[in-house]
Amino acid sequence: MRQSLRFQCTCDIQFVMTGMHATDALREADRLMTVCNACRYCEGLCAVFPAMEMRRTFNDGDLTYLSHLCHQCGACFHDCQYSPPHEFDVNVPATLATLRNDSYAGYAWPDFLAGAFARNGLVVTLLTAASVAAFVIGFVGFADPAALWSAQAGDFYKVMPHGAMVALFGLVALYPILAFVFSLRAFWRDIHGDAPRAGAAALWQALADTLTLRYLGGGGGGCTSESERPSGRRRLYHHVTFYGFLLCFAATCVATLYHYGFGWRAPYAFYSLPVLLGIIGGIGLLAGPAGLFVLARKRDSILTDRARTDMDTAFVVMLFLTSLTGFLLMILRDSAAMGLLLSLHLGVVLGLFLSLPYGKFVHGLYRLLALIKYAAERRRGTFAE
Ligand code: SF4
Ligand code: SF4
Repeated sequence: MRQSLRFQCTCDIQFVMTGMHATDALREADRLMTVCNACRYCEGLCAVFPAMEMRRTFNDGDLTYLSHLCHQCGACFHDCQYSPPHEFDVNVPATLATLRNDSYAGYAWPDFLAGAFARNGLVVTLLTAASVAAFVIGFVGFADPAALWSAQAGDFYKVMPHGAMVALFGLVALYPILAFVFSLRAFWRDIHGDAPRAGAAALWQALADTLTLRYLGGGGGGCTSESERPSGRRRLYHHVTFYGFLLCFAATCVATLYHYGFGWRAPYAFYSLPVLLGIIGGIGLLAGPAGLFVLARKRDSILTDRARTDMDTAFVVMLFLTSLTGFLLMILRDSAAMGLLLSLHLGVVLGLFLSLPYGKFVHGLYRLLALIKYAAERRRGTFAE
């Protein structure tokens, strides 16, 4: 359906919107971007508005691209003279949040799983984790029931042989990698359009903006997603979570190097590098997700896609549980509870892995691609029509 809508404000600004879109959310985003493109009051707040200004019309890929430049900080809603109850009903954060949620399902591979996770994200993720834990318990119990219930001096490989653990992790880790390849390829194909090729400088700029969460600053004062008073807490908790995750990943890499490079077998001492990295990262994965969970409960619901917050919740809950079970395993690794705790921890970690392609985690990857495109467009100064 070809649209051509004209809005007239009391201050005599006119907005003309044209476009063909498949969903109501895309049509609404087109309407808002057309209004914002005429107004341009928010152009200093984040990357969404400068990227929008490079366009006169918006196809589906453009709108999806803009949605992943948004951090949902809320600043443009509070600053907007056309936000509800104004008749223009401009609510950019909620509309872009809806588009992002649509894109998780739209680009997910395989798509039937995306539906299951989108509808009941937390329940499906927890059931997946419980199923993997039950599988590990069954596997160990079948091979050597005593290994599950007796103290093993912290030797995880007496509960589950190293080869079996690597095979299980390898198989489950391969799945999200494969899913990401399909999803990111489809996403990039849709948003790329005729954007210029990203050079090294654009890539570096996009990476720096991603790692510093530059656009979660709400234009400088902070995020206003809980109230009109800007706060840096959401940005802080995102940082703590992100770097906690990276440190835990680094701990796993160092432990792998110890095992294969130097022939040093786990368990490692509490003062060893992999354990220290894991402890610091684990603290980040307790504090960051807990903070994000609390802030999400306080967030003004008018700024969100109210119907779909489940996968966001599932992601932070699974990160928290990964860290919690990891700490319990480390503290009780010399006790008879180690076998069960190891099974539980593996179940949570692998359940988290399997849910990654369908929720908030993939948004980080889409955002990186969107920022690469944004940096390339800014550097070349191109204007796509
Ligand atoms: S959000 Fe409102 S104030 Fe900001 S650019 Fe759009 S219409 Fe203007
Ligand atoms: S909510 Fe924040 S990040 Fe999103 S468009 Fe508005 S100002 Fe930009």
